[in-house]
Parts: sequence; structure tokens; C-alpha cells
Amino acid sequence: MIDSHNVKPARVRMAPSPTGHFHIGGARTALYNYLFARQTGGQFILRIEDTDLKRNTPEAQAELMEALRWLGIQWDEGPEVGGPHAPYNQTARKQIYLEHARELVARGHAYYCFCAPERLAQVRAEQQARKVSPRYDGLCRALPPAEGAARAAAGEKHVIRFKTPKTGATTVRDYLRGDITVDNSTIDDFILVKSDGFALYHLAAMVDDHLMGITHVFRGSEWLGTFPLHALIIRAFGWEEPVWAHLSVFLKPSGKGKMSKRDVTSEQSIFVLGLRDLGYVPEAINNWIALMGASFGSEERLLTEAELIAGFSLDHLSPSAARVNFEKLDYFNGQYLRQLEAGDLAARVRPFLEQAGLRPDPEVLRQVAPLIRERIVTLDDAVEMAGFFFRSAPRPAAEALLVKGLTAAQCGTSVRLARAAISGLGAAGFTHAALEEALRALAEGLGQKPGQLFSLLRVAVTGQPVSPPLFETMLVIGRDEVLRRLGFAEDQLASAAAA
Ligand code: GLU
Repeated sequence: MIDSHNVKPARVRMAPSPTGHFHIGGARTALYNYLFARQTGGQFILRIEDTDLKRNTPEAQAELMEALRWLGIQWDEGPEVGGPHAPYNQTARKQIYLEHARELVARGHAYYCFCAPERLAQVRAEQQARKVSPRYDGLCRALPPAEGAARAAAGEKHVIRFKTPKTGATTVRDYLRGDITVDNSTIDDFILVKSDGFALYHLAAMVDDHLMGITHVFRGSEWLGTFPLHALIIRAFGWEEPVWAHLSVFLKPSGKGKMSKRDVTSEQSIFVLGLRDLGYVPEAINNWIALMGASFGSEERLLTEAELIAGFSLDHLSPSAARVNFEKLDYFNGQYLRQLEAGDLAARVRPFLEQAGLRPDPEVLRQVAPLIRERIVTLDDAVEMAGFFFRSAPRPAAEALLVKGLTAAQCGTSVRLARAAISGLGAAGFTHAALEEALRALAEGLGQKPGQLFSLLRVAVTGQPVSPPLFETMLVIGRDEVLRRLGFAEDQLASAAAA
């Protein structure tokens, strides 16, 4: 067992293929790599595995880098940062892989294959007809190496295949699952380099991991199936193997089936920038994903980055599938927002208000931030909770002002008396304590529960049934405006009572 707290500086990497949106699974892989690099004083490398030209896009690469930076998972080497092993995009490293493939050919671990696609299709069809699993039949494996080399040198179209041992077995070790053994007879002579000279993932990743001095590989468990191929390549070169840890898969919130893009809704996303746009903060997301697949000793408390770094351990990674629990994310997000200082919260909330078309006054927003801090789960909730502070006066309809069990006339009286009481306080008496005292006394005088009166006043002043605390809200809105709004509500109720 490795004591992860004592290993020498680790060199770890995240090696995404940039297709589509960057999701929380990728973010978790990046986070674990990052935490381990920071813990051991090593380096976290970002390598872009973009050799599949049909599926990889520059937009997807830009998105994943934006997402990682937004999460605070900054790479030490990689695109835009550089480093001793640049370039870090595999498309720019084509020649390196080709040379390594040729080296494997020279060492007798790989061979040139000249079979045309039509022949391969025919071989496959025959194998399927015989109900045996389709694989390369080895025609070119049998060629004398000198002949293969000569034909390739003469420019004949070819791929390079790995010469998988025909007998024996390959055992690989996953740190979380222990030894995994597969019969070599089940492994095809897989392709290392395609006919266009581009290496396939298996070769490119292993060559890069070696050249970049990678000591530990944390990656998704979808790579367990091809894991033996990777070990075969490394061993054919005679290189040292990194420590491998294949991370658990994510399950849907129900626990049934793997989480997928189809599970994204308007309130949930599995994409990092999607969660950002829904109003989640990076600190909460990092905490949440860190706990999906590893234990850090605390499930409930928000951990700081320093605590995540110190608490990460290879020995606490779990191979079992992890359920994606959005309530937990809400919980962490709300907790994080509650500990923010007002100015910080205001700054984070502002873009969401602006996105909703509001132009929040900075001073008012600063006063509002502490009022909503206990009440919002996402930054976006601020729009619903506090948007009215930045809009013109609400004009609630009489029905919205009616309190259950009271007539329009009774409600009208309540508002009129409340308005008189507030007015009577004068400008100097417009304080939290005085408002509370006067309005509680009024409710009692009217024989109402304070809650009844307050909910009526809330709708009158804010236009909505849910808002930050009433008296604080009134103070932010200001005495004159509060009186004006109560006047409007009084008129509405008067007309309703007369109708
Ligand atoms: N390019 C692979 C992917 O996108 C990387 C797998 C690995 O980390 O080795 O998942």
C-alpha cells in the first residue's frame, strides 16, 4: 500500500478528449489529480487528447479549460501554460508517436499491416458467420519483418498493429480493485497507428505518460476494459508503470443507471458551466464532487481547499459507483453562501441580477446581500428573492393582498392603520425596533396574528409573498417609498371592498 501522504512529488495528469460539454465526471478526475499534486508538492498536467479529429473540437477544449479555471483547478503544465513537455495537444505530437510505434516494430512488438478495409470487412463477416468474436486474422503478422519494413518504406498504405502475445495472460493492478488478469488470447492485435499516420489513444497516451514522467494515473473506470492493452504497450517498451486508480462511475440521482447528458434539466446540470449558470459556486461543486468517490472524513461540513488537499488519500478512494445527489450540492452551496461576507456575496449575485435584466444599485445591493444570505440556495435564487429591490414599485392586485380569513375591508383597514403608524414614527423613528414594536402592537389591537398583518404588508411593499425579513426590507426601500406603496395597496383594497 502506498501511503499517499509520504510519496515523493507526484506527476499526475488529466487527459481529456475534448468532445461536447465538460461534465462533473471530468471535473472530479481533474480535482483528484490536482489535490494529489498539491499534497505531494508535485505537478498537475493537462494534456489534450485530441487525435480523434472527427469528434474533438476547439470549442470543447476552450470550455473545459474555462470550467477548470472557474473551479480553481489550475494546471501546472499544459495548454496556454506551457511546460517542459510542450506541446500538450496530441495532434501536435503526431511524429513522436509514429517514431515510438516504429520503435516497437523494430523491437518485434508491432508490425505493419497492409490489409485493405475491404479485406478486413470480409474477415469480420466470416468470423461473425462462424459466431467467433471478430478480430484481425494475423495475415500481416506472419510477414517477414524485412518485407513489412520495405513495403512501408516504399509508401504502401498501412497501419501499425501491436503484436499481442498469443499465449499467456496479462495481469494489471488497479489501486482500488487489485489485480485484474486477462487471457492474451482475448486481446486483438489492436491498431497503434492509423493509415493517416495518426496514433490511436492507446499508444499516444502511454507514450505521453512515459515522456511526461507521470507517476499516478487517476481516470474513469470506463478505461478498465482497455487497461491491459496499456500495460502491454508499456511493458513492450520496458518502461516503468505508473500507479493506476480507476475512479468510480456516477449514477443517476435515483441510483438506477449511469448519469448521462439526458438527465440535465432546467434546474440541474451535470455540466460544470451549466452548474455555474444555475448559480452554484465552485467551492461547493468541488466539495460535492470530491465526496463522490472518496471519503475525506467529513460528509456534512464544507471543507476548505487546504482540507481537501490534506484529506485526499489513494486509500480512501472507492471503486463503487457514486450516486449523484443534487440535494447535497444544494446543501453545500447554501452553506457556502451563508459564510460569505456581504460584499463578496453581492459581487457574486450581481451577474445573475444583470442577466435577469436588472441594474442593481451597488449600495442597495450591499445592503440586500446580508438579508438574502440565509435564504438563498443558489446565486440565481437572488433574482426571485430580491429582484424587487431593483425594480419599480410593485402594483399588487387586491387578490394578492387579501389575507386568508379576512375581508377586503378588514385588510384595507390593516394597511391604513399600518401606514398611519409608520408615518407617525417620523423619519428619525423609522428604525427596525420602532417598526417592529408599532406593527406588533397594531396586530394585537386588530386582534390579528402578527404573521397575518406582516404577510399583507409584505405583499404591499415587495409585491411578493416571500421576501427577506420585512422590517429590514422596509429600511432598505426607505420610509417615503414604503408609505407610497402602502398607499397604493390601501387604494386597491378600498376598490375591492367597494366592488
Ligand atoms: N482521453 C481519455 C478520455 O478522454 C483519457 C483517458 C486517460 O486518462 O487515460 O477519457
